[in-house]
Amino acid sequence: MNYDVIIVGAGPGGIFSAYELVKLNPSLKIGVFESGNSLEKRKCPIDGVKVKSCIGCESCAIMNGFGGAGAFSDGKYNITNQFGGTLFEYVGKKEAIDLMKYVDEINLSHGGEGTKLYSTANTAIKRKCLQNGLHLLDAQVRHLGTDINYVVLENLFNELNEKVDFFFRTPVEKITKLSDETTTVGETEGYRIYANGESYSCKQCIVSVGRSGSKWMETVCTDLDIPTKSNRVDIGVRVELPAEIFADLTDELYESKIVYRTAKFEDLVRTFCMNPYGAVVNENTNGIVTVNGHSYEDPSKHTENTNFALLVSKHFSKPFKDSNGYGESIARLSNMLGGGVIVQRFGDLVRGRRSNEERIREGFVTPTLAATPGDLSLVIPKRILDGIIEMIYALDKICPGTANDDTLLYGVEVKFYNMEVEIDEHLETCNKGLFVIGDGSGVTHSLSHASASGVYVARYICGE
Ligand SMILES: Cc1cc2nc3c(=O)[nH]c(=O)nc-3n(C[C@H](O)[C@H](O)[C@H](O)COP(=O)(O)OP(=O)(O)OC[C@H]3O[C@@H](n4cnc5c(N)ncnc54)[C@H](O)[C@@H]3O)c2cc1C
Repeated sequence: MNYDVIIVGAGPGGIFSAYELVKLNPSLKIGVFESGNSLEKRKCPIDGVKVKSCIGCESCAIMNGFGGAGAFSDGKYNITNQFGGTLFEYVGKKEAIDLMKYVDEINLSHGGEGTKLYSTANTAIKRKCLQNGLHLLDAQVRHLGTDINYVVLENLFNELNEKVDFFFRTPVEKITKLSDETTTVGETEGYRIYANGESYSCKQCIVSVGRSGSKWMETVCTDLDIPTKSNRVDIGVRVELPAEIFADLTDELYESKIVYRTAKFEDLVRTFCMNPYGAVVNENTNGIVTVNGHSYEDPSKHTENTNFALLVSKHFSKPFKDSNGYGESIARLSNMLGGGVIVQRFGDLVRGRRSNEERIREGFVTPTLAATPGDLSLVIPKRILDGIIEMIYALDKICPGTANDDTLLYGVEVKFYNMEVEIDEHLETCNKGLFVIGDGSGVTHSLSHASASGVYVARYICGE
């Protein structure tokens, strides 16, 4: 055996698996294979001057590499079972929260000390939301910020690098069972992974390939007969407005997850990934450019705007299975019309006209992302767009100014979910010793849940 444990993917799931394995059993031989770069080599070429939009790098610096999709994220660790994944369905509600708190402790002891923990408990905002048909979900939020999140990752890497073999720019192509090899003598339990023309064996394998590894994960499940079921896709826009408009909410809660049921279709629309004083950014998933956002803890890097997403979940019934394909097609449409992300003033959208350079320039909200002015109604399905417009008016009641003409909407924001991989209460597949964790399992969709799933599996492997 080359390794006791091989971890595929060095995002939060993979990192926290490695951290806990090393802590509980320092004698384990661990290999971590990552298709992207080490942290210091992760540089997105978009500088807003020479390179203004995504040029489709072979390895996307935003999504791949040490730290995974979370490396340049806002570093919001939500400690809650109400959103961010359904880990609690596998490990129990109390255990899930305890794991997320443990992850928080590790982050604090690796550079995150002094960062703020926000909470929705006992807030008057909850009442104000309810009085206006809006529902504020319960959570504690540790906001590391993009800058401190990077420091924490740097510290974790320096600590792990001495105890774990890291292989960067090494995408794993295939996983096979040792028991299927005719040449294997003696011990046949375990796995072989193939990467960059080499192969490595291990007793146990943890797969944590996130959203960017979703297509590859499907091939692993097919090859190893692991059942899966298709999931959902969330479609919407990113809203950007002057930070003062949302300050009552963001000063107290930082991030608030608010859900609204539309009067017209009774669809649920929700806020997602709120970034006070932040910036809107491009996100590249499998070559398709969508929109996202982040913000820095350091006040010198603050912008004048706050951004957040408004999303509607779409679940499909038979015979359609490809929910991600549906989301990709909508995102492709915006890429086709705008060459990337489209931006539109709310006032233009409700008046049924496209935004152009002049109207955006004359608006009172300065965009933080150079997107193409256009018409989102040509891209987003009517029912979803109607829901988003309704929610903007609902939010206007608790944060007056949300529905101003100059509020900017960027589209599309698509939240892809991996198909759900069938795993048991140990996050183990039907193949003994093969675990699938983090966003790649379809079970988690957030930094804290993905990290917690890594700790959980490591403890199980170490017999804790
Ligand atoms: C811009 C942005 C902002 C975000 N902000 C937040 C936030 O504030 N709070 C929050 O909770 N969540 C946030 N998220 C989501 C969060 O980053 C993810 O939920 C989290 O990173 C999932 O962790 P993971 O380890 O499961 O997967 P990932 O972080 O996606 O890591 C998977 C890793 O596996 C690697 N990989 C994929 N395939 C292979 C292969 N075949 N071989 C080897 N390596 C492979 C990838 O390169 C990647 O590095 C954000 C995401 C983005 C993109």
